[in-house]
Amino acid sequence: MCCFGFQVSIPTIKLNNGIEFPALGYGTWLGLNDKMEFEITDARKLQDALSYAIDIGYRHIDTAHLYRVEPEVGEVINKKIKDGVVKREDIFVTTKVWHHHHKQADVEVAVRDCLRRLNLEYVDLVLVHWPMSISQEGVDENIDYLETWRGFEEVLKKGLTRSIGVSNFNIEQMKRLLANCNVPPAVNQIEINLNLGQKELVDYCQSKGVVVVAYSPFGTMVPSRNYPDSPEPKMDNPTMLSIAKKHGKTVTQIALRYLYQRGIVSIPKTVTKSRVLENASIFDFQLDDEDVATLAQFDNGFRTIRPLFWQPYENYPFDVVLGQEHEDIPISLLKWKNGVNGDIE
Ligand code: NDP
Repeated sequence: MCCFGFQVSIPTIKLNNGIEFPALGYGTWLGLNDKMEFEITDARKLQDALSYAIDIGYRHIDTAHLYRVEPEVGEVINKKIKDGVVKREDIFVTTKVWHHHHKQADVEVAVRDCLRRLNLEYVDLVLVHWPMSISQEGVDENIDYLETWRGFEEVLKKGLTRSIGVSNFNIEQMKRLLANCNVPPAVNQIEINLNLGQKELVDYCQSKGVVVVAYSPFGTMVPSRNYPDSPEPKMDNPTMLSIAKKHGKTVTQIALRYLYQRGIVSIPKTVTKSRVLENASIFDFQLDDEDVATLAQFDNGFRTIRPLFWQPYENYPFDVVLGQEHEDIPISLLKWKNGVNGDIE
């Protein structure tokens, strides 16, 4: 079907509902700039890169209401279906419900809005983006995520999505959810990379049949995330370079392969076509035990994504950094300003 020179073959992992889930997906979060406003300039590049990704064999796309790019993502998917590159059932689309919409009755409205923006009849997976519930005014709504989950079970039953899951849930929240649900989450999407191995949480989820998805799979390794105080490894780390050389791969491919060998699905984001291909070309080699042991030593608990401004809110899932509890939530995360498109409410 495809006339492109390169094709990638991405294996799948079975979810607890029997659905096949591609082990590597395409991330679509364009990020916030220095003023904590949405980065809107890359939306066109994102569409071009996503279009290329589907052409060469990506079949899993990760987006969210928050990212403001659901219309752009949906446009690419629908064009690929129209052009006969893929069928709808070949593509696995994930989106997420933001924490303004955690009342049970609001979940269906939020998911239908995602579908309208994506211009799709259903998604394959919808996630509770964060366990907290915060209003657009920044007020803690104290809605139990078990209530939110009942709304998720309803949208599953109505066929608006084929699977339901969570994101940023810690181990206690996973235990409580699993003990009090009718439908168990298929996925927990959390930050995992060389600095943040999350062994206990990953082991727990995997032991319960919940597939773990790694966001920010490169951590602070890539130049765009190099903060002055961020830990090794960077792209020029000698240990990484030597493992990469041994396998004829790049250091970023080593980082992604390491996750895959832990049974973790990753969703790297790139708007650079060469990297789209590079990131998915990790299924033709094997790290050995020595490589794995060496890579494990970079795990020091460092979080790339640490939203200190949510620390005071009930169900904030991470350990609290004392003395930094009083940062204001950026307006872009409250009022949905500065959207890529005019349609985001
Ligand atoms: P990533 O770890 O995917 O890093 C993205 C950065 O790495 C970009 O600057 C990109 O640059 C660069 N990059 C990508 N591939 C390479 C490569 N091969 N070599 C060098 N640089 C590279 O971080 P994200 O935070 O974007 O996480 C991935 C996805 O996870 C998101 O897009 C989103 O879908 C999801 N996510 C979910 C969260 C949640 O709360 N559930 C939170 C954060 C992310 P460039 O684009 O310029 O090529």
